Formats: sequence, structure tokens, C-alpha cells
Amino acid sequence: MSIKIPDPVALTQDLIRFNTINPPGNEDEICGFLEELLLSAGFECKSVDFAPRRRSLIARIVGERGGPNICFTGHVDVVPLGGRSWQYDPFSAQIHDGKLYGRGSSDMKSGVAAMVVAAMKTASQAKAGHGISLIITAGEETGCEGAFHLIAQKEVIDYIGTAGCFVVAEPTANEPLIGHKGAYWLRAKASGITAHGSMPERGENAFYKIARGALELEKFQFDNPPHPLMGQATLNIGTAKAGININSVPDAAEMTLDIRSIPGQSHQHLFGCLCKVLGPQITLEPIIDVQGFFTPSSDPWIQHVYARCNEINGVMPTEKTVAFFSDASALKTVIGDPPTVVLGPGQPEMAHQTDEFCYVQKISEATTLFEHLINDWQSN
Ligand SMILES: [Zn+2]
Repeated sequence: MSIKIPDPVALTQDLIRFNTINPPGNEDEICGFLEELLLSAGFECKSVDFAPRRRSLIARIVGERGGPNICFTGHVDVVPLGGRSWQYDPFSAQIHDGKLYGRGSSDMKSGVAAMVVAAMKTASQAKAGHGISLIITAGEETGCEGAFHLIAQKEVIDYIGTAGCFVVAEPTANEPLIGHKGAYWLRAKASGITAHGSMPERGENAFYKIARGALELEKFQFDNPPHPLMGQATLNIGTAKAGININSVPDAAEMTLDIRSIPGQSHQHLFGCLCKVLGPQITLEPIIDVQGFFTPSSDPWIQHVYARCNEINGVMPTEKTVAFFSDASALKTVIGDPPTVVLGPGQPEMAHQTDEFCYVQKISEATTLFEHLINDWQSN
């Protein structure tokens, strides 16, 4: 049986042509398409839906020499187009001057295409070695919904298997990044008693409570030591809302907090500190709770990734981390907490932009890089 392995650039184009703007996502068809491809190369596949038309896909080859395997992840949902018009149709995947244009070209259908083609090309080596697993997720852009749904199921975690190393193919222009911050988003609410605006003494103004809380948070100090590469965690109040009309005392008010935590910082501990600062008049509820991660560059596998990236890019990587968060937050610990890199062909500055593009050459280079990493893992 001969299998037909697609060109990674052509596959990126195919993937861009599926409209997977999230919301609503509709990742079922693209996952079905990738499943068919991977099955043809000898992979076993498991589809996991978290809602109607919201599908993630796990593909694996179990190695004859036993695990742990090499694991890759990528998401197939993309963000909305934004208000401005595009120079090229965002779903037609046109190539101009070495740039492939389209929504998701950088974030991150090029990364998914590179990992899928590399995995197909190395399927027999993976079979004879320690195996490989691919976690292709839905719903990443709205807070890693797909990934969190996957890790809530023991049979899915078992299916992925234990990983010895982990590649998150988010856009980094093929530069390996060894960590990212976490996100802890919360809603803070206060309630009061409404009254006529001419007699505020009869009411209890919920907005004053939230406003006092906000001013306390402006002075908030994290009690953990800063991270050597990422510095300290940050806190921002993104929104505040109170009141319905000018001549009433608001009986409800809320604000939202965006905390970007550093790896190892306990969100639970942070919650306790915030409650203490805000006092009993304000209640807090988490909206998004994803951990950061960091793998020291001294890790032998990271050193190996650096060497392989040097071959492709012609520059030795330096220790770098990134501010955005990814599915690694959800997935890393449940697959055995392996050394992890964020590494993919997309341009990081193009993510979520109008006229998003990816350099065609980077897609081919990432595919070669991933092939090397897979083969190297099988023979270790
Ligand atoms: Zn992404």
C-alpha cells in the first residue's frame, strides 16, 4: 500500500479553506479531514466532541519499543476576522511573494499542517520506536475549552499515553520558546440596595464597593519571587460595570480581573490573597484558570531542540519565553509533565491580525524540523 503524503504548504491551504472561526468553531469537518489523512498513514484516531460540531482529534502510533512517546499539539479553530477588510480573501489561502495569506495561516494551521505531514512521513519509524501522539484541539482561542474537555476524560488521557517530550506548534517563526505565562481571569461582584437617586442614604451603592476594591487591587503585591525570565505576574482590571440609570443607586456592580501568572505560582493561593484584599463585600469567581509552564534550557531534550533549530535557522536559539498562553497549560501535566517547547512556523506578530500570513518557506522548514525531532526521539 502506498500512501499519499501531502505537501505541507498545500495542506495548510486546505486547512485555511475550512472556516473554523470561533465562535462558533465548527471544527468537526476539518478534524474529519485530518483523521482520514492520518488513518491513511497508519495512525489510530479518536474523535472527541465537546459540543455539537465541536470536535478535537487524537491520533497516535504506539511504538513497538514502548513509551514514552513524542507528543505534538495544535488547535484548528481561528479567531474572528475583525472589522477591517482584507487584501486577500481570508479563506482562499493565496500565495503572494512567498507569503501564504489567510485567517489561521500563522495561528496556527501551518503548524498543524507541518506536524501532521512530519508525523505521516515518520510513521514507520514511530511504529518501530517509542511512538507518537498528536492532539489536535477545538476551541483553543476561547480559553482552551477543547483541551480542558479532553483532559477531563481518563480514557482520552490513556489514549494519548505518556509523553517524553512535547511540542506546541503555535506561531514562533520556528524559534523554540521554553515557557509561557498562565492566565487567571476572574469576575468580582458586589451587591447593594437600590434607592431613588435623590435619596441615596436609603440605599447601599454597590459601585462604591467595587471601586474601593479596584483601588486596593491597584496596590496589590504578588508575594511570590519573580521568575528569572518572565519577571513578575501582572494584574489588570479590564472591565467595570455598575448601574442602569443615572437616578438610581446601583444594587449590583462587577469588574473583571486579568492576571498573567508565572509558572509555579499557585492560583489557589492567589485567590485567597485576592479575597483577603477585597474583603467580604466582594465575591470572586474564576472565568479562565490556566497555568503557565517553563522548561529550563539545561534540559537535555531542549538542548537537542536548540541544536536542530540551529541547523534549520542558522542561529543558535537563546532562552526565550512568551506572554500568550496555549493548550500546553491544560495538556502538559496530564501527559506526564514532559519537557515542552512552543515551536511552529507561523509568524507570532501575525496572530489575530488583518491580512494574517505565514512565510511559505517556514512551513517546509518546520516540517523538516519536526521530522528530525520525531526520528531522533524514536532512536534514543
Ligand atoms: Zn494559537
